[in-house]
Amino acid sequence: MKQLSLFPEENKDERAPMSINWNLWHGCTRVSAGCRHCYMYRRDESIGKDPSVVQKTENFDLPVRVLRSGKNKGLYKVPRGSHIWTCFSSDFFHPDADEWRDEAWEMMHERSDCSFFMITKRPERIAGHLPDCWEEDRDHITIAVTCENQEMIDKRLPVYLSLPLAQHSVMIEPMLSAVDLRPYIEGYRASDGSPIISHVSVGGESGPGARICDYSWVESVHEQCTESGISFYYHQTGAKLIKDGKIYYIPRKLQHSQAHLARLDT
Ligand code: SF4
Repeated sequence: MKQLSLFPEENKDERAPMSINWNLWHGCTRVSAGCRHCYMYRRDESIGKDPSVVQKTENFDLPVRVLRSGKNKGLYKVPRGSHIWTCFSSDFFHPDADEWRDEAWEMMHERSDCSFFMITKRPERIAGHLPDCWEEDRDHITIAVTCENQEMIDKRLPVYLSLPLAQHSVMIEPMLSAVDLRPYIEGYRASDGSPIISHVSVGGESGPGARICDYSWVESVHEQCTESGISFYYHQTGAKLIKDGKIYYIPRKLQHSQAHLARLDT
């Protein structure tokens, strides 16, 4: 006898979560020294395109697209639980994207079953451009800041560390100078006394014309983080690394693996 199914179970998503890139707009303008060798500029200029024009991409609605056929018909194309890396050919807080950002937040709200990650060099624009429902969404949306030298640390961190984010993640990449994070580790504490900065990632510059990164700068940040219980990740060596007074020229394909071999990650 056919089983009675008065209340059929909702179509379950049994697919494995994915890690995907979501470039919802493309194009940007340079804001600081770290932008000098922006890979998006290099790529666009090589094909005669103006990288400073910010435009919505055809993937703008990617996270909320629904499958129209097949076994998983009716489900989102992006499986539940996926990790979505956002805005890697622009800056999510670029002023020329102001008219599209509310819709982007709505999509991220709708996909609260996924996690989103974005990096900005414009933390001063975050507070005025968070959605009304940010309290509900902040646990699944990570906004990281990137600061390439001490000048940008001193400019961006006081703003960034005062924002109502679930995690405060600091990227130092491309690392262009030694940096002292201690004033921001000591000076910005959560109510339980732990540092507001939860994670730091560093990396050297890659690509043509890459500037030098000194390994002692990396070690110093590693020490500052470990003594305060902040997680640390050495993302990549960059193309030119000075270590023990010697310059190493590191091919692109080895920059991640060589950084990992330093065993600084915590
Ligand atoms: S903010 Fe990022 S995307 Fe924009 S120009 Fe600078 S490096 Fe490129």
